[in-house]
Amino acid sequence: MSVQTDTIAAISTPPGPGAIGILRLSGPGAVPIAEKCFKPLGSKGLREHKPRKLVYGDLLDGDKQAIDRVLCTYSLGPASYTGEDMAELQCHGSPMVLALGLEALFAAGARQARAGEFTKRAFLNGRLDLAQAEAVGDLLEARSREGARHAAGQLAGALSRKIKNIYSALVDVMAHFHAVLDYPDEDIDPFRLEELDGLLSDQEGELSALLATCGRGKLLREGVACAIVGRPNAGKSSLLNAMLGWDRAIVTDIPGTTRDTVEERCELGGVPLRLIDTAGLRNTDDPVEKLGVERSRRAMEEAGLILVLIDASRPAGEEDFALLQEAMQLAPTILVWTKGDLPAAACPVKRYEEISCPAVTVSAKVSDLDELCNEISCAFPQDLWSEHYGEILTNARQEEAAKRAWEAVRRARGALEAGMTPDALLTDVEEALAALGELTGQSVREDVTDRIFSRFCVGK
Ligand code: GDP
Repeated sequence: MSVQTDTIAAISTPPGPGAIGILRLSGPGAVPIAEKCFKPLGSKGLREHKPRKLVYGDLLDGDKQAIDRVLCTYSLGPASYTGEDMAELQCHGSPMVLALGLEALFAAGARQARAGEFTKRAFLNGRLDLAQAEAVGDLLEARSREGARHAAGQLAGALSRKIKNIYSALVDVMAHFHAVLDYPDEDIDPFRLEELDGLLSDQEGELSALLATCGRGKLLREGVACAIVGRPNAGKSSLLNAMLGWDRAIVTDIPGTTRDTVEERCELGGVPLRLIDTAGLRNTDDPVEKLGVERSRRAMEEAGLILVLIDASRPAGEEDFALLQEAMQLAPTILVWTKGDLPAAACPVKRYEEISCPAVTVSAKVSDLDELCNEISCAFPQDLWSEHYGEILTNARQEEAAKRAWEAVRRARGALEAGMTPDALLTDVEEALAALGELTGQSVREDVTDRIFSRFCVGK
């Protein structure tokens, strides 16, 4: 348990007016400081109420003037989020009230919490391991249902349990070889050797399965890159706006308005997407538009899903056909006939029936996207995300540590098979254990933890 001598305070709710705003305190002075700034209604003082109960009363500013009627609760360490004594004041969500309240907490002895400092204290006090602490950050940033569910699973310890199982199996291997080193005259029982090889091979398999989840973790974090391409005026920006549910991109009937790629995150058909609206693809002499067209091509090359838009109200041309074929070479593609609310042009469809690519009709104007949502769900079925919530690696740090552990276990197996001495094998197993320890934070450098927590917001 790390003992922090100072007490931190922060506004834990987002800036701007809201229904409620929360001031949070953690550290040895949390309860005395709350007592100075909060006066319960009735005759009992704050501490005469039980911990974790909500107490109604007045929040006082630095001059002891009541500035809000609030609810206050306190908890005593180690049974709290941070493992320290904590207090929370639930105020009305007025930025001025919260600013005055925070000033009063500072005047009473607290200092401003740094980004992620509450969660960092929880980690230092063993309330959360590092994988769980990272899950707190992922949960705050989750932009999709599945992303939130995985983060919640990881926060509840799903990944940590998996890593601890691997860790503990490797510790068994270590224990055996240490015993062999201590009694060098005794030969290793060949049955035991086979068993140890089996153990190492199982853990190699577990780690490789874990590493295989990185791609999914990345998609959940960043969303599937979905390029929206088509000729100018096909309705790309309108579709982006309809998919987002708000007007992000400029829509005009002047061809070539979108010069640059526009990116936004959303979830559609249960799939987290990173939508990329691109400049219309056409031959142009305008140097700015030319750059935009190059970027559109790059977006297509990097996409995990391509929506090729063709205006159904106009006769489609050879260019549309060529673009569709190009997209299909690069990534899963959906042909999207746009402007479904307008009368369709004379049978543009014939040519496209030959192409084996899912096709849907949408109308951005009347927000009719049902067919498109269904098709996106089919392209990325739910079970791709929803298996074993939390048992996936979600960032590069975790991936790198798991990879090192996997490589070390493979080397250890190789050493065992080559009949190397136990000490050679032990070095590899120790390396694997150290790498796994980094995943959960048992053995991790301070600068690494600092970096992890600095991406959190203040007050978390
Ligand atoms: P982009 O150049 O491909 O991005 O196309 P825009 O989204 O800017 O749209 C070009 C024109 O088509 C604009 O005048 C839009 O209002 C119109 N438009 C786009 N989608 C629809 C639709 O679903 N229905 C109708 N009626 N018009 C649309």
